[in-house]
Amino acid sequence: MHLIIAEKNIVAQRIAGLLSEGGRVTAEKDGGVSIYHFGDSVAMGLKGHVVEIDFEEGYTNWRSEVHTPRTLIDAGIVKKATEKKIVALIKKFAKKADLVTIATDYDREGELIGKEAYEIVRSANRDVTVNRAIFSAITKPEIAAAFENPTTVDFDLAAAGEARQEIDLVWGASLTRFISIAAKRGGNNILSVGRVQSPTLGMIVDREKEIEAFVPTPYWMLSVMSEKAGEPFEARHTTGKFWDKAEAKTAEANTKAPLTVTDVKEGVRSDSAPSPFDTTGYIVAAGRLGLSASNAMRIAEELYMNGFISYPRTDNTIYPKSLDLDAILNDLKKSPFKSDVEWTEKNRRAQPTSGKKSSTDHPPIHPAGAANPSMMDEQSWKVYELVVRRFLATLSPDARWKTLKIMFDAGGEEYTSTGQRLEVEGYRHVYGYSQAKEQILPEMSVGDRLPVNKIVLEDKETLPPARYSQSKLIQQMEELGLGTKSTRHDVIGKLVSRRYVEENPLKPTLVGKAVTETLEEYASLITKPDMTQTLERHMEDIKKGDKTKDGVVEESKKMLHRIFDELEANEENIGNEIMDRTAEERIIGKCPICGQSLMLKTSKGMAQFIGCNGYPDCSFNIGLPSAQWGKAIRDDKVCEIHGLNHIRLIRKGSRPWDIGCPLCSHINSNRESLSMMASINEELITKLHNAHIYSVYEIANISKQELCGKTGISEGTAETLIWDAMDVLEILRKRSELKKFVRSVIPPRRGRSHAKVTGAMIEGGIGDIASLADTKKQTLMKMFLSEQEAESLIYQAKCIHNKAFLKSLGIPAVSLKKYMDAGFVSADDFVNAHPAYLSEKTGINIETVYKHTAPVYEARGVKQPAKISKKAFEAGREELLKVRGIGEAMLEKLYFAGITDISALKSANTGELSKTLGISADKLEKIISEI
Ligand SMILES: [Zn+2]
Ligand SMILES: [Zn+2]
Repeated sequence: MHLIIAEKNIVAQRIAGLLSEGGRVTAEKDGGVSIYHFGDSVAMGLKGHVVEIDFEEGYTNWRSEVHTPRTLIDAGIVKKATEKKIVALIKKFAKKADLVTIATDYDREGELIGKEAYEIVRSANRDVTVNRAIFSAITKPEIAAAFENPTTVDFDLAAAGEARQEIDLVWGASLTRFISIAAKRGGNNILSVGRVQSPTLGMIVDREKEIEAFVPTPYWMLSVMSEKAGEPFEARHTTGKFWDKAEAKTAEANTKAPLTVTDVKEGVRSDSAPSPFDTTGYIVAAGRLGLSASNAMRIAEELYMNGFISYPRTDNTIYPKSLDLDAILNDLKKSPFKSDVEWTEKNRRAQPTSGKKSSTDHPPIHPAGAANPSMMDEQSWKVYELVVRRFLATLSPDARWKTLKIMFDAGGEEYTSTGQRLEVEGYRHVYGYSQAKEQILPEMSVGDRLPVNKIVLEDKETLPPARYSQSKLIQQMEELGLGTKSTRHDVIGKLVSRRYVEENPLKPTLVGKAVTETLEEYASLITKPDMTQTLERHMEDIKKGDKTKDGVVEESKKMLHRIFDELEANEENIGNEIMDRTAEERIIGKCPICGQSLMLKTSKGMAQFIGCNGYPDCSFNIGLPSAQWGKAIRDDKVCEIHGLNHIRLIRKGSRPWDIGCPLCSHINSNRESLSMMASINEELITKLHNAHIYSVYEIANISKQELCGKTGISEGTAETLIWDAMDVLEILRKRSELKKFVRSVIPPRRGRSHAKVTGAMIEGGIGDIASLADTKKQTLMKMFLSEQEAESLIYQAKCIHNKAFLKSLGIPAVSLKKYMDAGFVSADDFVNAHPAYLSEKTGINIETVYKHTAPVYEARGVKQPAKISKKAFEAGREELLKVRGIGEAMLEKLYFAGITDISALKSANTGELSKTLGISADKLEKIISEI
């Protein structure tokens, strides 16, 4: 049997399809893992790494006195399976296999993943032949060639990947732990430090410092507006930037009509077709389409796995000879780009364009198969089109521009205008992503005397350097040797998710700056690219077999020890500095009451609020939505009224929720409830707000004296306000009870939220469950409810309301349940039945029933039937059952009518009783006569 192991499930599936030559592929699950049978072969996919490395046991406790962060440097490292099912399945098949092919992606990371699979195979079968298939695209010719000419696992290349993995683990874990402990941070707030991440952040912070330190220099630009034969154009003064205002003013004053043409120079500018895409070039181009680096890579990887484009992680910008460009062009004729392909074939350049970088592992990114928009989502299609058009552009001729430079004289001052016109369209015919525009000037010749319609002197300022965009940063990282084509976009993603940087272009956060600048001060090796560059070079050496993994890892550990010498000597300073600088990120402004700092705080659990640093002397605070809605962070915007920073809630995987100024939001959300107070008016609200009292809750819980003292209102008004506030709180409590109840009974439906239903109820005067129980169903049916829903809502409201009422009359909950289960759900039900009947139906002792129902009769203003003892009741029951024609069923009906013994039956009004019993008067009289 031939076992094929691919890097991902989808790749395994495609490989099986391509190798089966159109034969049958059977897909099934084995141990929860998808596998693909064809002929004598089985293909299965990994999930990238199926094992991970971690420190040996004993290093998980951050507070350990023995295992300090530094000890992590030399701690033993163990491998653990992360995908146990897949590992087990590889072993199972390896035992039966007589050939295993590793078909993971071909690069440092892919080779390491392949080596991991190799080791699992070997652990189960020491003798089976294991080979390696190398391909750059998951297409028929590539896959067929790779399996016809397999090679072996490249252990040097895998070792380079392993070295990176170990070094990153050791650096990241030990430094992150050290810095976090020093700054007293834990849980979700740890400060991560990493080998590639920290120097990258360093670049962003450095750029921000340049921007902050930048002092703009003023300069002036002079130009004239003129026209030739009705066509307007602009000419600029040849000085360009005037750094001296007086000089610019003089030139402006000298400028006089006519504007005389002194020279016309024509020229051509060649516009080279772009070179093939490597990873960085691709990310930059995708960035212009609005894709972030990590999105661009994610989409490219999907396109690769589906066989639409070649492997997107490559440093190569030169098509290898082996790549069949004609075949790709031919294939693309099946796509919607047919006419562009045909144009390219007709105009094809002698040699495809090429860049400076050549590597042997993968060709530049190119289309691998024809596709159409129905095969993918819109964004993927945009990326696919970009790759196709870029490929066509690399085979197309250069474009050519005709340029025009005209010189003018105006009163002795020299002006110039330039224009350009696309003369040969070249590659631009198929690649329209460039922004270069035509600039057409009217036809002019030497000696033309033209008018000066306007002289424009503009005030300008030099601009600070721009922040890095994601793609610009990736280019810069590549130049500095930070990370690899496979990791750079991930590193940036991590900086964003760890809240070290924000926005695009990238800007460091307060924490990002604090950590970087503190590290720069004490251990600049961590934030500078040099050390990481050295390690990347060493990994190249491992790949070539010039250095060993262990040697390189040891060397990096020595470097790390030197860093720790510095760090440990300054631990307290480092911690204090970071804490001082990051405290600011929680300050949102000044307390309106006492003037101290207002801080973002979290209490136990998920509660978040804004509290005053003057606590407990000052108790001013503003509640915020619980952390389950997102972690509250400070935004840079400041409220114009309150001077407080805006608040934003951020949660992984959802859009941030902008709360805005927390005090404005607090005031607005409480305004409605304040206005519910009977005695409130705008003047009083203003007085309350001036005293920083914003909510009904605060008014209900303040003393009369304090309220007078703070607001200056009279005692009488204060007292009324407090009573009103308590009433409103009660109304709000009942409303929230009502809302909860409606939510529990009425199923949600599109277009009819619970808020809509309860909103209509409250507007219609239904403010609690009791009034809902008294509502007619017709009324509810006007409030987005069906007849059935209205009925069920009223019935259940009645149950709840009656239950609460009966409970308030002292009937214990256990008994109440028995009554209700037997169908006695309201006070009326209790009063309309005789206690004996209640006892009979519920099994509750009759004397207890008398006790329970007494207050119900009283509340209904009805007289309770005369008491009978249990003994008398039993005796009466026995007598009655002896009478012919009276059985258990009839007995129940008699009890219901209040008849508990023979004498009562004899003296009953037969006319009325026969109705209650549901038998004819004749029959009843016959029964009585039998006694
Ligand atoms: Zn305060
Ligand atoms: Zn505000």
